[in-house]
Amino acid sequence: MYKLARRFSADLAAVMAANPGADPLNLRIGSKLVVPLPFDVVPEDIALTSELLALCIEGLAARYPFMETSSAGRSVKGRGLYVVSIGKGQKSLFLNAAHHANEWITGLFALRFVENYLKAVASGGDIEGYDAASLYSAVRFVCLPLVNPDGADLVTGFIAPGSARYEDALAMNFPPVAFPSGWKANIEGTDLNLQYPAGWEKAREIKFAQGYTRPGPRDYVGPAPLTAPESRAVYELTKANDFQMTLSYHTAGEVVYWKYDGFEPPLSRETGEKLSAASGYPLETTPYESGYAGYKDWFIQAYDRPGYTVEAGSGTSPLPLTQFRRIYAANAPLVAAALDIVSRA
Ligand SMILES: [Zn+2]
Repeated sequence: MYKLARRFSADLAAVMAANPGADPLNLRIGSKLVVPLPFDVVPEDIALTSELLALCIEGLAARYPFMETSSAGRSVKGRGLYVVSIGKGQKSLFLNAAHHANEWITGLFALRFVENYLKAVASGGDIEGYDAASLYSAVRFVCLPLVNPDGADLVTGFIAPGSARYEDALAMNFPPVAFPSGWKANIEGTDLNLQYPAGWEKAREIKFAQGYTRPGPRDYVGPAPLTAPESRAVYELTKANDFQMTLSYHTAGEVVYWKYDGFEPPLSRETGEKLSAASGYPLETTPYESGYAGYKDWFIQAYDRPGYTVEAGSGTSPLPLTQFRRIYAANAPLVAAALDIVSRA
């Protein structure tokens, strides 16, 4: 195995992690081995599409067989809603990213964090200063990196101009946004983070008053809660698990939102302050006009446990990939701190 690793310039520990069933001193002729080549799976310089997501999941699963891969369901256009789980603990942390189409950079961040965490677990190292093996044994980290794959495909240009899907979305672009870059909703025009049964009627009232009364690029709440399959899938995934804490990733603003309405779950402020300290993002109360029917709102109301919305990066979405390193540097410590907090809960 050492010779094989050397031949491909691969790291021996990485080869061993990818092939837990193989005896490194007694390889059998004809058996197949996975040899991780010396580069990372998740790129930092390519926009996240449904296709790139599938390739990243496939690559990570091959390199780190202890990562569990599943699906929470499918998008309106049949794209897989991939979920990865890492860890053995009874307690779990849930991270979801990119409910909003033009916030796909958060999904890329989530995948990059997943890869670095897997790498740390496999090599017995640290993740942002925390012992990865300890976190792994105490917490199950559940991550859904791309809640809105069709929307991300539209915004990134993976759905080609002139195609039926592109033209259908363009026809719905009212009130108009820069197209397709300003698109936030799913590809059928429902805002996936205004779909949860927590003050949905209130969200509807606010958004209708603002003029968002029908399917469009942003802020349409849908005909009823949980009508969009993507939001329904996140809801069902949450019901099927017992998450201690949730992190919902959005762009932008460099802020952590922690409250829903009058709800204040035990330790939610203290925990929020720790996440704020880890990232350098201030802890704030969600603005009134976007304070209802979001995933975090529903999670807090339904479970009385801490749930946060993190607005990563700064500027107008979609944020350019030149912000990726900055976003990673602020948010990897936040997610690692959340894992540590859940491990001690
Ligand atoms: Zn958002």
